[in-house]
Amino acid sequence: MDNYVYILGNKIYINLTNRCTNNCDFCIRRDHKDMDGTVLWIKEEPTAEDVIEQLPQNLDDFDNEIVFCGYGEPTYNLETLDEVASYLHCIDKTTRINTNGQANLIHGQDVTDLIVTSCDVINVSLNESTAQKYQQHCKSIYGINAYDSIIEFAKLCKQRGGNVVFSVVDSIGEQDVAECQKLADKLGIPLRVRIKK
Ligand code: SF4
Repeated sequence: MDNYVYILGNKIYINLTNRCTNNCDFCIRRDHKDMDGTVLWIKEEPTAEDVIEQLPQNLDDFDNEIVFCGYGEPTYNLETLDEVASYLHCIDKTTRINTNGQANLIHGQDVTDLIVTSCDVINVSLNESTAQKYQQHCKSIYGINAYDSIIEFAKLCKQRGGNVVFSVVDSIGEQDVAECQKLADKLGIPLRVRIKK
C-alpha cells in the first residue's frame, strides 16, 4: 500500500508525490531511505480521497498543524493539496507546506494564490545564499534561474498575505547563513536555521 500519511512524534505529514524538480545532495530520498520506518516511495500519486482515508481516526490527539511534506515537491500534486487543505480547514486544522518554492516554474503560471489559500504556513527551503551555490547543491531542472524564481515565489506568497518562512540548514556555514539572513531581512521574511542532525 502506498503511504500518503505518516506520523513523526505528534505531527501528521502528508506525502503527495515523489516527483521533484531538484536532486539535492542532502536529500534522503536519494538513498531510498524510509522515514522512521515508513516507506514514502509511492506507486501512484494520491487523490484527496486517498489521503483523507489514511488520516488517523483520532486526529485530535495530534498536533493541530498538518504538514505537506514527503519524498518530493508537494506542489507537483496541486489539485490534491488544494482539496485536502480545504478538508482540513473545514475540520479546524491548520496546514503547513515544506516546499522548494518552484511551484510557479512547475506549473508555468503563478499559483501562489492557491498556495496561500491552502497553506497557513509556507516554509520555503532557501538552502543556499546564491543562485550558483543553490544550483551546485540542489541541481534544479530549471538550472541557475531556479533560485531567483524561488525568491520571487516567496515574495508573491507574502504579497498575497501568506505566512512565509525561509529555511536553511546550519551546515552551509556561518557566513552563508548570515548572507541568507540578510536576504531574508531585506524581504521581510523570517529565516529558520535548522540544526543538521
Ligand atoms: S527539494 Fe526536497 S525533496 Fe526535492 S531533492 Fe531537494 S530535499 Fe529532496
